[in-house]
Amino acid sequence: MEYRRMGNTGLQLSELSFGSWITFGNQIEDNTSGRLLDMAYDAGINFFDNAEVYANGASEEVMGRLLAQRDWPRDTWCVSSKVFFGAGGKLPTQRGLHRKHVTEACHDALKRLRVDYLDLFFCHRPDKQTPMEETVWTMHQLIQQGKILYWGTSEWSAAEIMDAHRIAERHHLIGPVVEQPQYNMLVRDKVEAEFADVYRTVGLGTTIWSPLASGILTGKYNRTVGADARLKREELNWIAELLLTDENLNKVSALEALAGDLGTTMPKLALAWCLKNPNVSTVLLGATKTNQLEENLQAPEVVPLLTPDVMERIEEILDNAPAHPQY
Ligand code: NDP
Repeated sequence: MEYRRMGNTGLQLSELSFGSWITFGNQIEDNTSGRLLDMAYDAGINFFDNAEVYANGASEEVMGRLLAQRDWPRDTWCVSSKVFFGAGGKLPTQRGLHRKHVTEACHDALKRLRVDYLDLFFCHRPDKQTPMEETVWTMHQLIQQGKILYWGTSEWSAAEIMDAHRIAERHHLIGPVVEQPQYNMLVRDKVEAEFADVYRTVGLGTTIWSPLASGILTGKYNRTVGADARLKREELNWIAELLLTDENLNKVSALEALAGDLGTTMPKLALAWCLKNPNVSTVLLGATKTNQLEENLQAPEVVPLLTPDVMERIEEILDNAPAHPQY
């Protein structure tokens, strides 16, 4: 496993990391979650991603219980939580990025994950109802209290991230150092174009999510998938409607043929393509089965196969390169 600096910070995350959205405390049994966690750690993964909203807190409870059962030294792994959506409660005090909810969400995540501090704490979405200053101050204070080590954002715009930085600079506070955006062969704009200046100016790190577009980039939706596959879940119809289009399936079919030419598989090609981007600090994996994770963990071996010629062939198939800002 290779390790990459998280943006301009000194923290080095494993280039592959492991998250629990949809799966822990929900789609899979706890003993499967435990096996996946063990496989990830044994392969050198040092970052486990979570959020208050995942299974309304149950994902963090499962991960916390599993981590507590292992004798892994605390200085060998990092864990995150994310605040914004709440852990089930819908009252205005139970969600958002105001001081009350951010503070309480942090305390609750510490309890559920059974840790003394969160290595990373993300603002899961921007909150238009809370002044940016209030969130930046609260995150800074949580760092000063030793409850979190780094804070970041998820699905914020470049303008929002820069706004937070300007406020932090003005008051000598610690600003957000990492963003968690979606990034994969089908969704590219934020990571490849919108954040270009933010990498240069503040040295933003990225922990990217859905590198396989929820499984579409494995190629399995081009065939008959089992009823237990993620995009058969009713609550995820919105992703299927957005990404499971004929156009995308045709692209996947062509990419899968290319993967075959290279002697590899579609999931490994899709993950290696994400790893190839130097602005990606870590690629967050998700899995419901050990054989999936076993395959995905081999993705770094495919990166050297992505020569300029192969990247060009991929680009021709994808035909979705964002227009880069001029600077
Ligand atoms: P992926 O896009 O990689 O999707 C993972 C899912 O794809 C698995 O659960 C599995 O689903 C299927 N899959 C994975 N590997 C294979 C394989 N080799 N063969 C066949 N099927 C496979 O990642 P996620 O969407 O899970 O995102 C990763 C992490 O990112 C999450 O766990 C979470 O921590 C984070 N995240 C953050 C978000 C945010 O807003 N900040 C949003 C979403 C995720 P199945 O078996 O059910 O088909």
